[in-house]
Amino acid sequence: MKKYQLMAPGPTPVPSQALLAMAQPMIHHRTPEYEALFTEVRAGLKTLFQTQGDVVPLACSGTGAMEAAAVNTLSAGDTVAVIRAGKFGERWVEICRAYGIDVVELAAPFGQTVPAERVAETLQKTPGIKAVLTQHSESSTGVLHDVRGFAAVTRTSDAILIADAVSSLAIADLQMDAWGVDVVVAGSQKGLMLPPGLAFCALSDRAWARTKTSTLPKYYFNLAEERKFVVKAEAHFTPAVSIVVGLREVIRMLEAEGLQNVFRRHDRLGRATRAGAEALGLELFAKATPSPALTSVVAPPGVDGEKIVAAFSKSHNITIAGGQGEMKGKIFRLGHMGYAAEFDTISALAALEQVLAELGVPVDFGASVRAAQKVFAEKP
Ligand SMILES: *Cc1c(COP(=O)(O)O)cnc(C)c1O
Repeated sequence: MKKYQLMAPGPTPVPSQALLAMAQPMIHHRTPEYEALFTEVRAGLKTLFQTQGDVVPLACSGTGAMEAAAVNTLSAGDTVAVIRAGKFGERWVEICRAYGIDVVELAAPFGQTVPAERVAETLQKTPGIKAVLTQHSESSTGVLHDVRGFAAVTRTSDAILIADAVSSLAIADLQMDAWGVDVVVAGSQKGLMLPPGLAFCALSDRAWARTKTSTLPKYYFNLAEERKFVVKAEAHFTPAVSIVVGLREVIRMLEAEGLQNVFRRHDRLGRATRAGAEALGLELFAKATPSPALTSVVAPPGVDGEKIVAAFSKSHNITIAGGQGEMKGKIFRLGHMGYAAEFDTISALAALEQVLAELGVPVDFGASVRAAQKVFAEKP
């Protein structure tokens, strides 16, 4: 028997409290029970998104919420700036182009980031930019972009800032209201440690004002229509009831831990994983601020990254992720987000040592575990 462990950068393991809650008999969504459930969830979401405004849930994957963010605040022919430093940045470009939005690409080599000053310069040089779109945690490279800095420079222009926080919500601090981020997009299957299928859009007053002038077509994804139901603790269409039930449990867990402690836990998991990888002589792929959600590691010379991913699965029944697109075969990615704790990281690193040895890489057994334990032994 090999115990299954999911250590990918999403979906992530689901805690038993949420699994058990979701196993309860289905309830109808037009009932006092659902209203009570959603009243609690609605308040909890505001805490998690660090906003006073309403968070609109949608029954779709994270990409659906990205699309919703664009189609509700923009119009065909608008110009936007996109931080493109990974596959998810490319997704913003693709979504915008699909709707006839002109894109100014702020590109950086994968593994790097774009400084806020470059965003400021672009906003000055290209008048009329309607929005800046970025990831917070770029999960394809493992880099955390400077959303706070982007917000500061975007605030001084007429552009709104749209941030994909799918792999940073309840992982890394993102103060939506305090920093002035206009749209925050998230999904259920990363920091929220739930099954995939529920996504969210949170909008600032500035962004809600944009929904009034946006002319892109939308029906299910009409956020202004959906908000009319959200404020009554109802849903316009059948919601992902089971995942909302799980979400109530997760919100309770995260509130009991405390949001700052949640961020601290992820930061420690990230630092320990990076220390472990470096102790094995491996190169980290992220050259800019690393994301606390996942660690991307360059495959050792002569070793195909896909073989590492396959060996994790075959030899140890552990799912990790490889590289996407041009990074395929060159890197592998260890997720440590959501329902992840110190000894998950220790297991992942111990397995990494065994996998590398199996693939013929000389390994000093215990070196990565030792390095991670030193991080964990630090006073929190
Ligand atoms: C996972 C993820 C998404 C959403 O992907 P879906 O497969 O559509 O849920 C979007 N952005 C980032 C940064 C992600 O990590």
